[in-house]
Amino acid sequence: MFKPYLVNFDTRQLPVETYEYVIIGGGIAGLYTACKVAREGGQVLVLTKHTLEDTSTDKAQGGIAAALGQSDSPELHFKDTIFAGAGLCDPKAVEILVNEGVSRVKELIEWGAQFDYDEGELALTREGAHSQRRILHAAGDATGAEIQRALAYQANQIPNLKIYENYFVVDLLVADDICYGVLAWDNVNQCFKVFYGRVVVLATGGTGQVYEHNTNPEIATGDGIAMAYRAGAEVMDMEFIQFHPTVLCLPGAPSFLISEAVRGEGARLRNCYGEQFMPCYHQLAELAPRDIVVQSMLKEMVRTGSKNVFLDLSPLPAEVIQQRFPNITRTCATYGLDITKDPIPVAPAAHYMMGGVKTNLHGETNIKGLYACGEVACQGVHGANRLASNSLLDGLVFGFRIVKESMRFLTSYVPSSVEFVCNYLKPPEEIKINGLTRELRAVMNKCAGPVRSCQRLTGALSFFENQADLFLSEAKNIAEMELRNMLLVGQLICEAALMRTESRGAHYREDHPAASERWVKHIILRL
Ligand SMILES: Cc1cc2nc3c(=O)[nH]c(=O)nc-3n(C[C@H](O)[C@H](O)[C@H](O)COP(=O)(O)OP(=O)(O)OC[C@H]3O[C@@H](n4cnc5c(N)ncnc54)[C@H](O)[C@@H]3O)c2cc1C
Repeated sequence: MFKPYLVNFDTRQLPVETYEYVIIGGGIAGLYTACKVAREGGQVLVLTKHTLEDTSTDKAQGGIAAALGQSDSPELHFKDTIFAGAGLCDPKAVEILVNEGVSRVKELIEWGAQFDYDEGELALTREGAHSQRRILHAAGDATGAEIQRALAYQANQIPNLKIYENYFVVDLLVADDICYGVLAWDNVNQCFKVFYGRVVVLATGGTGQVYEHNTNPEIATGDGIAMAYRAGAEVMDMEFIQFHPTVLCLPGAPSFLISEAVRGEGARLRNCYGEQFMPCYHQLAELAPRDIVVQSMLKEMVRTGSKNVFLDLSPLPAEVIQQRFPNITRTCATYGLDITKDPIPVAPAAHYMMGGVKTNLHGETNIKGLYACGEVACQGVHGANRLASNSLLDGLVFGFRIVKESMRFLTSYVPSSVEFVCNYLKPPEEIKINGLTRELRAVMNKCAGPVRSCQRLTGALSFFENQADLFLSEAKNIAEMELRNMLLVGQLICEAALMRTESRGAHYREDHPAASERWVKHIILRL
């Protein structure tokens, strides 16, 4: 089965750097945590596998949720999050998110993030399953890029915070359930390096790239979950993948996300006959939780025999569309759509990983010295279905908690020197990376998409079993390492999805279409 490393190496023969904190990932979770620790005086290194802007954070459109509106409160935000989470949210985690989230977002504003204002007040929009207008946004529909910019600016001002771009973290260095650092590939100088850290923080983002149709950037190959699992970390809720309802579905165009905020401002979903169908499925119509909108769209697509439905923005004045959604307007125009007039063809695509590396409410994993926050982590805050715009918030809130907890850990920690060697992997084999990647993504789309069954999931698991020998030999480049990570993550998703014999939130089993009391619990997997 899976060997704990992807390549052979010997840390005694590699260049070594040592820090207090090694943070893997430069999106909202990694960068915010890094800035916060470094401001407290910690020596911090952030590693990113591409450039600093190459993150899901940078792509986020709709916004970040926080109970800042006059008629809003953390209690209402709590209720909405729990309702969307379909019975699996950890109420303590949600309480922390909605209460501490308010201060974290205010801090982001103090740090220079420029959100949109309306007549001197923060402009707040609404998204699916939010009972209030509570989503802050920036430059209309480019919220993530503004947050990424503001955090990068902060990070660059702090002398004890270093950022190394183009470093691919291959594996965690763990012995006796203690994490000592990471093995990384320096993609500029083409060599391995070792980074020891007294605290290692996983902030590697999501897993969307394991699916053929997904909204995620190329970096989202689930590396963090895979390396943590190989090292002995527990992973939880892997079956819960959020499929976003409204993703551009046009031949030749990418799976470009059309933000939920578009529906929040009044856009309607229509079938191929031009009929608005969501009111027939749910009282909240277009603003029902995402899992419900996705399943309703799929039923409507089957009923009408079409591959997509349409998002109709005509209820909104043209100038509102252009001003609120400039990025979506521009991108759709490059594919010949004038969204002030043309309905946008949309279909669901993989978007967000609710599960991930299991942590407690302080971001600690079951491995000492290893913490996780952001999309890679799972403390149960999103349950079976994440409430829109809660994920950027989650990165800030649980990143902050890691800072507090790990500083306590540092003071009680006596570092020791440990060497790591892996010499048992066979020499690299010739594999057709592109073909196998395509096959994996097609299997995941077919078998572990928004509609699942025992038969399809069992089929997917035999596909993964057939790839097991791959893990006996060394990976020879980054593409191969990513492929192995995606194979492992895909397998974990399918294993958990097969185990959960019910339908709940984003996990829909056509052979078990109802939710079951017996399944009000989490699936935890460990090597
Ligand atoms: C198109 C889109 C729109 C979205 N819109 C919203 C929204 O409006 N509101 C909202 O709340 N959420 C939204 N989300 C979800 C949200 O953006 C993400 O969940 C969140 O940004 C994740 O942040 P993160 O810091 O955990 O990971 P990311 O921002 O994805 O950062 C991951 C980092 O990890 C690094 N990394 C990964 N693997 C390795 C490795 N092996 N070695 C070294 N570095 C590595 C990457 O280089 C990157 O720096 C959206 C997501 C997408 C894709």
